[in-house]
Amino acid sequence: MNKFDENCIFCKIAKGEIPTTPVYETEDVIAFNDLNPQAPVHILVIPKSHYPSLSEIDDVELLGKVANAVREITKKLGITSYRTVINTGEQAGQTVMHLHFHIMAGREFTWPAG
Ligand code: 5GP
Ligand code: ZN
Repeated sequence: MNKFDENCIFCKIAKGEIPTTPVYETEDVIAFNDLNPQAPVHILVIPKSHYPSLSEIDDVELLGKVANAVREITKKLGITSYRTVINTGEQAGQTVMHLHFHIMAGREFTWPAG
């Protein structure tokens, strides 16, 4: 059973309250295109259940499923080089307080990240 926060935008997407075209979906994970893409491919992968951040998810199996979804999505799309980002906390740039993995691809990325 997925647990939702009624004020959370990603929970609304997970519940289907905000219509979206999923790139990938299972019982407990969903992925969709970022509204404001930072690269030609910019996908967000989330657990459907509400966990505010990587620091606050205590379900290791679910966390593994989200990571595995990144693997399956990139494999399905034939993407072999990509940037995966998890922002945790405001100082790191997290703006939506529902754990999400960014998958970005299709351009050069610099390192170290700014
Ligand atoms: P963060 O800054 O928290 O790591 O990333 C949040 C991401 O969510 C941003 O890249 C932003 O563009 C995206 N985003 C925010 N609201 C929505 C929305 O309603 N729909 C979608 N698809 N993406 C969103
Ligand atoms: Zn949420």
